[in-house]
Amino acid sequence: MNVTTTAQELPQPTTLANEQLRGAACVWCGERLDTAMAVDLGARPDPAYSGVRWYPRACPACAEARS
Ligand SMILES: [Zn+2]
Repeated sequence: MNVTTTAQELPQPTTLANEQLRGAACVWCGERLDTAMAVDLGARPDPAYSGVRWYPRACPACAEARS
């Protein structure tokens, strides 16, 4: 139960693929994620659309490298 609520540096949503925005792929390396191993980074407001959120997730390797 380790919830990170940080201002971790994330890529701009506009530069990401759909899978990355939906949390289906790692925001940093683009690797497809398994729900069992994905690290949830928490919902973030989308700067491009007010009121819209996106759900970044990361693979364990990337999440660890950035924490
Ligand atoms: Zn990754």
